Amino acid sequence: MPHFPNYMTSPKFEITIGWLYPTLMSTYGDRGNVITIERRAQWRGYSVKVLPLDQNATADDIKSVDLIVGGGAQDRQQEIVMRDLQGVKADAMREKIENGTPGVFTCGSPQLLGHYYEPGLGQRIEGLGILDLVSVHPGENTKRCIGNLVIEVTASRLAQDLKAMTGSTPYLVGFENHGGRTKLGKVEALGKVVYGLGNNGEDGTEGAFYQNAIATYSHGPLLPKNPFVADWLLQTALRLKYQQPITLEPLDDTLAMQAREAMFKRLKVNLPAPAAAKV
Ligand code: GLN
Repeated sequence: MPHFPNYMTSPKFEITIGWLYPTLMSTYGDRGNVITIERRAQWRGYSVKVLPLDQNATADDIKSVDLIVGGGAQDRQQEIVMRDLQGVKADAMREKIENGTPGVFTCGSPQLLGHYYEPGLGQRIEGLGILDLVSVHPGENTKRCIGNLVIEVTASRLAQDLKAMTGSTPYLVGFENHGGRTKLGKVEALGKVVYGLGNNGEDGTEGAFYQNAIATYSHGPLLPKNPFVADWLLQTALRLKYQQPITLEPLDDTLAMQAREAMFKRLKVNLPAPAAAKV
């Protein structure tokens, strides 16, 4: 059971989560990321709105959100999204990410935030070029990258923040399923692969971290499995919105942390002993 803080003493923050193309981009449980942020905010007594940023949304809608979640998609859906995310809408997305709006972008979403994605079949899909990375699907006869994923977060600022929040080196448990292989340019990797394949199965990198945008191949169980990342996103969004040094009230994450431990054990991932607990 989550620990519910006293609503009467919780500051009444309001947060709007922008959800990119919910019906086109939500493969493999990606809505779990939206639900996790929403619930963790509600459990603290904040009021939450989830705004779909889809074909009906305007550039002003994109500008209005405090946090962005983007999921994965099949190649065909990615093409439809990129046909819509053009002009003023593309500019609004660029502006949000450059200005530090936090976000979590999974699989197909980072491919679209990069320079381009080349599907296994069909034409190259041009991306928004916000993240300095490119993604190429080597063809339908190449094995997809599917399975459990464990990474150590190495993106320096994020790693520092997560270490301060949890008291230990941040490892994330996730699940990947992608055909595309991503190569990073100058953008920092989110982390290094401890178990699984990550960006391309070759260079040991996973995801990317830019301003406050987390890009990853890890799908929608990412935030339920690693709730401190959801809190980092929430805290970053609230600090930016309210311009105050906000620290979130703790919740009881015992079960989620036990589930992480169970996965480390099952995958035979031996992590270094945790650092001294935060005081
Ligand atoms: N279509 C992309 C790929 O196969 C993304 C897949 C996904 O988001 N699950 O790489």
